[in-house]
Amino acid sequence: MRIPRNGEVAGLAAAVCLIFACVARAQLAQPLVSEQTLKQVSEHVYALVGFPNIGIVVGNRGTLVIDTGLGTRNGATVMRAVEKLAKGQNLYLTTTHYHSEHTTGEQAFPPHTVLIRPVVQQEELNQRLPQHMARFREMSQQNKDLLQDVKLRTPDILLDGEMKLDLGGVSARLFCLGAAHTKGDMLVFVEEDSVLIPGDIVQSKLFPIMPDGEATMKGWLAVLDKVEPLKPRLIVPDHGELGDGSLIAKQRAMLQELQGRALELKKPECC
Ligand SMILES: [Zn+2]
Repeated sequence: MRIPRNGEVAGLAAAVCLIFACVARAQLAQPLVSEQTLKQVSEHVYALVGFPNIGIVVGNRGTLVIDTGLGTRNGATVMRAVEKLAKGQNLYLTTTHYHSEHTTGEQAFPPHTVLIRPVVQQEELNQRLPQHMARFREMSQQNKDLLQDVKLRTPDILLDGEMKLDLGGVSARLFCLGAAHTKGDMLVFVEEDSVLIPGDIVQSKLFPIMPDGEATMKGWLAVLDKVEPLKPRLIVPDHGELGDGSLIAKQRAMLQELQGRALELKKPECC
C-alpha cells in the first residue's frame, strides 16, 4: 500500500477540520425559546421544543424544569410557559450539564425556585462556564445580547448521588452515570410516564460533540449501557427531535460507527 506524503496528510487533516467546522456550523441554528413550540409529551411531561429542548414535569404539588435556555430572555420565556402549566406552588429547576444554553437563563426564575445540581456539574460549571459563554458570545450578536448580564444562582441542593423528587402524583429521578458529553452530565427519568430527559447523552439527528478531556467515546458508550435498561417509552433529548426509546440504540450505533472509523484511520499504513 502506498504511504501518503506529508502534504497529503496535511491536506487530509485540513479536510477533516473543514468537515468538523461545517458540522459545527450546521448545528448552530440557535432560535430563541418560544412558547409557541410547547408540546405535551405525556400525561405529566411537556417540552418547549427549540434550542435547547426544555423539559417541564408537572405534578399536583410541584413543577420541575429541566434546563433554562440561553440567557435571561430565554429563561423568562420558559418561566411564562411554566406559570401556565404549574398546578402547585413548588418550583424546582435543574440543569443537565454546564453548557451555556442549559444554565444561563436561571436568573429569570423567581426567588422561591429550588435549584438542584450535581456537585460534579457545579464544580465543572464554576471552572468552565465563563469560557463557554465567551465562545457563545463570539458566535452571533444575538448570543452576545442574550449573555450580556448573566448572574448565576447558588444551588439550593447540591446532589451527590441521586434523588427522587416527589412532585405530587408523579416523581422525577435525577441521577448521574459518569462522564459522557461532559463530566457532570445529569439525566431525569419520569418513571410514571416512562419518559427520559437525558440531556445531551442521547441526541437526535445530531453529531455528538465531545468538548472537554473527560468526554470520550468509551465513557459515552458505557453511560449508554447504563441508560438502556430504563427502557423509556419516550425520550426528550436536549437537542434534536423528540423520539421513542429507540433513540438510545441509534445514538449507540452512531458512536460505535464513529469510534470504528476513527480507529481505522489511526491505524498505521503498512506493507
Ligand atoms: Zn452541551
